[in-house]
This record gives sequence, C-alpha cells and structure tokens, in this order.
Amino acid sequence: MKLADLPAELQQRLPAVDEALERRYRPVYEKFSDVMPVEEWLTRLPLVAAINDLKAERDAVVMAHNYQTPDIFHGIADATGDSLALARMAADVDAGTIVLCGVHFMAETARLMAPDKKVISPDPMAGCSLASGITAADVRALKARHPGVPVVAYVNTTAEVKAEVDVCCTSGNALDVVNALGAPRVIMVPDGYLARYVAERTSVEIIIWEGRCEVHERFTAEEINQFRDESGTWVMAHPECSPEVIDASDYVGSTAGMIRELKTRRPPRVMLLTECSMADNVREAVPDTRFVQPCNLCPHMKRITLEKTLMALWAGSPEVEVAEDLIAPARRSVQAMFELTAVRAA
Ligand code: SF4
Repeated sequence: MKLADLPAELQQRLPAVDEALERRYRPVYEKFSDVMPVEEWLTRLPLVAAINDLKAERDAVVMAHNYQTPDIFHGIADATGDSLALARMAADVDAGTIVLCGVHFMAETARLMAPDKKVISPDPMAGCSLASGITAADVRALKARHPGVPVVAYVNTTAEVKAEVDVCCTSGNALDVVNALGAPRVIMVPDGYLARYVAERTSVEIIIWEGRCEVHERFTAEEINQFRDESGTWVMAHPECSPEVIDASDYVGSTAGMIRELKTRRPPRVMLLTECSMADNVREAVPDTRFVQPCNLCPHMKRITLEKTLMALWAGSPEVEVAEDLIAPARRSVQAMFELTAVRAA
C-alpha cells in the first residue's frame, strides 16, 4: 500500500509539512537521521503526525518490535521491545486498542495477554518462518512419541501451538526456562538452532524440532571471519543463528540482551548478526559505535509500513482474533514462562 492508495478521507487528514511540523518532530528524526535521508523523512512525516494524532482519538497505543523501520520504531511507537517485552507490556496497556507493529504471532500474543483489548495488525499476512514451521498437530505427535516429556515452545509460534505446549520461552530466557522445569528431557520447538544453543549449555537432554528463522540462518561464519580482519569489530549474534556463527561470535543474546550489552560495552565497531533495522534503531543510544555489515532484512517484518498502520488505526481493523477455546491454554503457557523465570530470578 502506497500513500496514494489511502482513501481520500484519510489523505485529507495528512498535515502539510511546514516549519512548525518539522520543528515538532526534529528530535524524533535526529534519532535516525544517519540512516534516512531528510528528503525521505519529509515524505514520512505527514504519516507519522497523522498516526500520532489519530492514536488519541482512537484510544490506541502502538507497540513496535525492535525489527521495525526507524520511522515506526522512533516515530509512532509508544512501546518498543523484543517479543518478551511486547508480551509483558500488552498485559499492562490501559488503552482500549493495541496496534501491534510486528509479525502475526506477536499480535496474537498481545491478544492472549490482553484478552479484553482490541488488537489490530497493520498487515495480518506478516508471518514468520519459525511460526509456520510447526503446527498443533505436529506438537501432539511429538507428545505422543515422547509421553510425559515437557514441551517448551519459543514464543515465535501460533496460538494453536502455544495452546498445546507446557511453557513458552524467548531467546533471552530459553536456557532458564529449560533448567527451571527440573526435567531430565525436554522437547523444544520450533527453532532447531535455539534448541542446540540451549542443549550445549544445559545437562537436560533436548529433543529438537528443526525449524529455522529464514533471516538468521543466512549468516555464515565466513562473513564474520572476513570482518574480523578489521580490528576491533565486536560480533554479536542472535541465538537463531547457526552453531558455527554462534561459536564465531563474541556475544550471543536476544535483541534486548544485545541492546543492554551494547550500552554497557560501547564497542567502537560492532557487527549485529540480526535483522537490519535493529542497528538502525539502536545506534542513537550508542552514538560512538560504528555498525558494520552484514545484516539481513526480514521480509515479514517489512510488510508493516506507516501507510498500513495509519489505515488500520483509522479503520479499526484488521482485528487479530484468537479462537475462544485457545485463549486460556495458550495464555497459560506464556504465563508459565513468566512464573518459571520469576522464581529463578528471585
Ligand atoms: S526475523 Fe526470523 S524469527 Fe523474526 S519474524 Fe522474521 S522470520 Fe520470524
């Protein structure tokens, strides 16, 4: 959807770019002016302003994942974070409507955590290769093959799958969740690389499902080694990367973990082996750090745009629905993750 595709009534709501509007949004633009030319920003600015004005009218908040483009992440989001943070924040939202700028399983998770709220996805076709890599029937078959073995599902799964498992995890807490279960064997779905990452760091036997993130699996150890020649490059990888990439990296963690580590370590040069927008969004917090390639774009995350977000907010749809009978069991597996990790942190 392009700006010209918006209905006439909505186009009329777009403010003209004048000096006052530019001045109002200058602090926002300064956060990502290194990665977006001003000419492009000025085409985005009316959409950003219209969305922010409409949020109040619609009693809505915008929540955005760390992989969203900086005009969304810095321009319109009231809350940002990784899957775990977004799930937690959804449960505490006061507004009546949540617009979830992220992929579909994230919007579903927000719906689970805030069942009395309206959750809108700007593009419900924004999928995820991990979430589509396993079905509820697959989980039932695994449980039949391994009776009594607890099943841990990465949050990158559909509500149907969440409803079948014992507990969810994120890339940041997967190891803690597996250890906290106190079981000798655990089934982990759907990310095979995350499961291997955990298996190498625990005495628990892990039964692995071989799903993949199509974005992170593309990184290679050769790419890292090429950049290693450039002195001082600190390499950070997401656990959805292959074991070879993880072994070749200096730090492995979730996007939230990467941000924390970057702010603490403040390396002069860093390579973030994750989705490209992550570097664009975090660079304002570490202005003295230079970000070097490679990075990979997630085509699903990039389906979310300002135009679609404005359209969805205005129309109050598409609404994200979860079947009534799935809400309680799927929510329980997310809650179990919070409870297990809270006990461990205590
Ligand atoms: S980056 Fe990978 S895990 Fe994240 S939404 Fe895209 S395909 Fe799914």
